[in-house]
Amino acid sequence: MTTNKEMQARRENSVARGAANITQFYAEKAVNAEVWDVEGKRYIDFAGGIGVLNIGHLHPKVVAAVESQLHKLMHTCFHVMPYEPYIALAEKLNDITPGSHAKKTLLLNTGAEAVENAVKVARAATGRSAVIAFNGAFHGRTMMGMALTGKVVPYKQGFGPFPAEVFHAPYPNAYYGVSAEDSLNAVKNLLKTDVDPGRVAAIIIEPVQGEGGFYQAPTEFMQSLRALCDEHGILMIVDEVQSGFARTGKMFAIEHSGVTPDFICMAKSLAGGMTLSALVGSADLMDVPGPGSIGSTYGGSPMACAAALATIEVIEEEGLLERSNEVGQLITSRFLAMKESGLTCIDHVRATGGMIACELFDEQGNPNPDLAKQLVAKATANGLLLLSCGTFANTIRVLVPLTASNALIEEGLDIMENCLREL
Ligand code: PMP
Repeated sequence: MTTNKEMQARRENSVARGAANITQFYAEKAVNAEVWDVEGKRYIDFAGGIGVLNIGHLHPKVVAAVESQLHKLMHTCFHVMPYEPYIALAEKLNDITPGSHAKKTLLLNTGAEAVENAVKVARAATGRSAVIAFNGAFHGRTMMGMALTGKVVPYKQGFGPFPAEVFHAPYPNAYYGVSAEDSLNAVKNLLKTDVDPGRVAAIIIEPVQGEGGFYQAPTEFMQSLRALCDEHGILMIVDEVQSGFARTGKMFAIEHSGVTPDFICMAKSLAGGMTLSALVGSADLMDVPGPGSIGSTYGGSPMACAAALATIEVIEEEGLLERSNEVGQLITSRFLAMKESGLTCIDHVRATGGMIACELFDEQGNPNPDLAKQLVAKATANGLLLLSCGTFANTIRVLVPLTASNALIEEGLDIMENCLREL
């Protein structure tokens, strides 16, 4: 039998250190919300491949769709010889995204690429260069993705210089004393002190920050930001790479605010585990860049498109929007019960649908990233895949498949609670 230890030794010899691993257990197979390692040990999956598996590992409908497509057509490159699944998915995404206006879609491979292309299209459409993003944001590891990302370590350190014309404002976060008004005033201030509004192509925002700590921007903030964009002819890009596809109890998190953005970036749970991302935007804007100026060799591969169409059907058929809210309630009520039963290190329990988090603090009330790190390691050793995140690295986030049973979720929460008590 291959052991985790042998795998770790091979990994250390062969794979770049920067492409880090949270665990030293090596996955062999998975189904729905459970994973088994190479030694046959089982894990409950509260990480969902970092938000990729809202409908679980190997959903039978996705597997069937990919298998069926695999026997017909694997790759031509859409730009060489187009095919129906790409178009069917574009039609579907144009249909399910907010706003009844005409929309068009570009398919790519990663979240970072969707963000890159949103900025390209926004710049081409406005003839402007600048982009405003938010502190704590994560938008990917490409050059523009890093420039837009609002956290230096580990994402930006040593990799500059980054593309110019990127400005950051504080993200609204009531827990840390940044009100919606403070944040909006900071954006307005940027337009006074740093960049002429007539030079700003776009503002990019995660309606619920992912890597930044699972904080949701208040409705009034999103609406005011939209109004500010409209006032100055600035385009609004929402990055739903982590928050999309039923994670927050809506198909897209922006729907909580009623705001219609100009562009939505999506990836992760879009294709149930296959590699795919998309940029969906107003048709008039999306059509500005000329032929050949945007695209990708692998973007929108036939199998990824088939998987995405199946994923969207599963979300609709299995009522996963409602389920997302149930999962959120189940887990937040357990977090609160843990806190009340003496685990006073837990605070700031919150959820937008099934995008669930709490934060860990030390006895003086300071964020406790060490405890978060220890909890993640101990939970994994005890059979629960768990993730931390946040500007202070003290947030524990849950991205469990929405298809997981209550019993399995409770079992995972028991592991987390026991680990915290032992720590
Ligand atoms: N945007 C957000 C909000 C993300 O959470 C991520 C990935 N964590 C990305 C962009 C980048 O996606 P990818 O790793 O697929 O490039």
